[in-house]
Amino acid sequence: MLEPNARLTIDLDAVAHNARVCAGLSGATVAPVVKADAYGLGAAAVASRLWAEGARTFFVARLAEGVGLREALPQAEVYVLDGCTEGSAGALADHRLKPVLGGLDQVARWSQAGGGFAGLHVDTGMNRLGLRVEEGQALAASPDRLRHVDLDLVMSHLACAGEPEHPMNAMQRDRFAAVAALFPGVRRSLANSGGCLLGADYGFDLVRPGVALYGGGPRGTPDSRLKPVVTLDLPILQTRTVPKGETVGYAATWTSQRLSRIAILAGGYADGVLRSAAPGAYASVDGRRCPIIGRISMDLIAIDVTDAPTARDGGFAQVIGPDQPIDDLAAAAGTLAYEVLTRLGPRIERRYVGATA
Ligand SMILES: *Cc1c(COP(=O)(O)O)cnc(C)c1O
Repeated sequence: MLEPNARLTIDLDAVAHNARVCAGLSGATVAPVVKADAYGLGAAAVASRLWAEGARTFFVARLAEGVGLREALPQAEVYVLDGCTEGSAGALADHRLKPVLGGLDQVARWSQAGGGFAGLHVDTGMNRLGLRVEEGQALAASPDRLRHVDLDLVMSHLACAGEPEHPMNAMQRDRFAAVAALFPGVRRSLANSGGCLLGADYGFDLVRPGVALYGGGPRGTPDSRLKPVVTLDLPILQTRTVPKGETVGYAATWTSQRLSRIAILAGGYADGVLRSAAPGAYASVDGRRCPIIGRISMDLIAIDVTDAPTARDGGFAQVIGPDQPIDDLAAAAGTLAYEVLTRLGPRIERRYVGATA
């Protein structure tokens, strides 16, 4: 028999629920962002379920992600956020992918390659991808440059959507509305997950939630309107008794203050349980929170189960779940749910619950 494996349970019903929440709060159509393999949860499974829920437009970052998604969803509208990079026009067209053109050079490249449907990314303050507003205005003023481009989306991206009070939000929204108005009749999209929670002013036509679909609070803390999507359970390999005064793990950073019972879990930073999560994070055994002690190592984690009498070899301890929402684990590691999700490693078995399509 195989040894028990670390398992990640992904609740597709919760993903569908979260998509409905994003639609309801923004008043717009949800176009799910499924880049990075749907933040590590499996783009084909997640996108297929959301397609069954009515989503028709999806966003990925890379061309290769678009090619993969096209196989899973032959009929979907798929935008590639990287746009029309050098040498990619042929593959984009072959797979019926729409580049989000992010610079005047990309507009020219797509057009010269034959053109077709595409989105346009106008930067309104993020200074990452996208035409500058002046470039967007210049483009609108010389429609010749768009002769071969069937522009069907204008989008921008919020820099501070996770901070509702940040003045950048309204500033970007107003700049976006002004530049989008130069392309009448073209669908508009501004909001990511955080933007959906900013309300209908930010909804425009399409919203592009990612992390909220996957149960991460866009503001870095659990959001009660969203359902948790993932639980992570690690097998207990061994329990052991550690006398008072002994240490546990690398660098001997934890010393037993009493006669302690310790459980060793089969998981570590190679699986994406970030080393920086300890001290501070927990695992729970049958609902009892047990602190992670000492250093998280590559394959193993020690937890103090002195007060969790049901902990036993062959059992499981939960690292993400009701007792420790993903946002809390992320906060203990000094990061966000985004990074925790996208780091969950290939050794973890993924299991889906809820309707698949
Ligand atoms: C990743 C990404 C999103 C989704 O962001 P979340 O904060 O996860 O909702 C939306 N739009 C763009 C341009 C992105 O790069």
